[in-house]
Amino acid sequence: MRIELDKLEKTGNGFTHVYEPEEIVLDEEHARLTKEPTVTGRISRTGHEVRLRGKISASAEVDCDRCLKTVAVPVETEFDVTYVPTEDYKRSEAAELQEEDLSLSVFDGETIDLDELVREQVLLALPARALCGEECKGLCPTCGTDRNANSCDCHSKEIDPRWAGLLKAGMRDEG
Ligand SMILES: [Zn+2]
Ligand SMILES: [Zn+2]
Repeated sequence: MRIELDKLEKTGNGFTHVYEPEEIVLDEEHARLTKEPTVTGRISRTGHEVRLRGKISASAEVDCDRCLKTVAVPVETEFDVTYVPTEDYKRSEAAELQEEDLSLSVFDGETIDLDELVREQVLLALPARALCGEECKGLCPTCGTDRNANSCDCHSKEIDPRWAGLLKAGMRDEG
């Protein structure tokens, strides 16, 4: 959804949008939406700057950092982003806006891409590392077994490297 600023006078300063499935894609390898976002907010303008404030609610799932099982993450996040027209931004870049500021975005002066805002804010709200549980044992780095569900012998079988060659030769004979 795009917000066209010249239509704002007719539509008022508040906005609400309930996303349809597939309307927004997180485009992130380890995170997916499970409930489409709902965004509500208000727009205020000061000169060329446009400020969007509001909240987003959605549900997502991310992969457990250790075992890759999906972990449900409710997303309830608030945003307060100021949009500056590209031209103004370039002009002031040398001055105070040099450092990266997550609450600042640029736009073409006419329309604001709400989808991009929602996508960014949802990603920001997701945990950088998620675990299915504090006690998650993860996957065995050797055989890939999920250690939460099964055990494997990889650890006890850890072999003295001097014997590894012999054992391999033995296995080849058997096969
Ligand atoms: Zn896990
Ligand atoms: Zn193993």
